[in-house]
Amino acid sequence: MGQITLQQVTKSFGETQVIPPLDLTIEDGEFAVFVGPSGCGKSTLLRLIAGLEDTTSGQIVIDGQDATEVPPAKRGLAMVFQSYALYPHMSVRKNIAFPMKMAGVDQAEQDRRIEQAAAALNLTDYLERRPGQLSGGQRQRVAIGRAIVREPAAFLFDEPLSNLDAALRVGMRMEISELHKKLATTMIYVTHDQVEAMTMADKIVVLRAGHIEQVGSPLELYRAPRNKFVAGFIGSPT
Ligand code: ADP
Ligand code: MG
Repeated sequence: MGQITLQQVTKSFGETQVIPPLDLTIEDGEFAVFVGPSGCGKSTLLRLIAGLEDTTSGQIVIDGQDATEVPPAKRGLAMVFQSYALYPHMSVRKNIAFPMKMAGVDQAEQDRRIEQAAAALNLTDYLERRPGQLSGGQRQRVAIGRAIVREPAAFLFDEPLSNLDAALRVGMRMEISELHKKLATTMIYVTHDQVEAMTMADKIVVLRAGHIEQVGSPLELYRAPRNKFVAGFIGSPT
């Protein structure tokens, strides 16, 4: 399960409304990409879905249940941060185990999920290392592993590859797409990179100043961008 619906969601910081009333549904198992220029509200939307920010008004519904008042840890979603959020003094195994330890998962179950995540992410031989002894791509995989072991209804990625170099980014992009195929879990992926959006998404949500300009598959947006802003972002010839 992992259907996420936003109904007339708004967000203001003080007097400034950064998200005007917004409606959006992300289907169970979908790979949705939020794109748009810096400052358009991508991170804010993700943080609202994760529960890291409170909505000013409107509802967030996860699998048919109003999640608006549900605290982040109880929403069943996992936010994947950039790899620098790893604990440098802990082994890869302990980094991956950390959220399960917090949730009180028993040791045998922890070990089972760690083995599974490590296998899915090609980290089996690196479990006893520390983050400092890994490449940038491996560190990013550990950050993803820490999300996988929570067995979330959806993964939320906020520009997870933006501090990797270009070559590594291409590889990680493919790995995340592979992972989506393997797990068949809903993923929401924030980026300002149109190539990432076009190659990874089932559904692209184009944002501008907190509102949705257009929603559609990469092909739909490419073939029929609603306006110049969307066309410019998607790289369509219009
Ligand atoms: P993006 O991730 O697309 O770059 P953000 O969601 O980070 O955009 O920001 C959207 C807008 O909300 C920006 O104008 C930003 O300055 C503002 N904003 C974000 N977080 C806060 C905050 N905690 N307090 C005040 N303004 C914020
Ligand atoms: Mg952001």
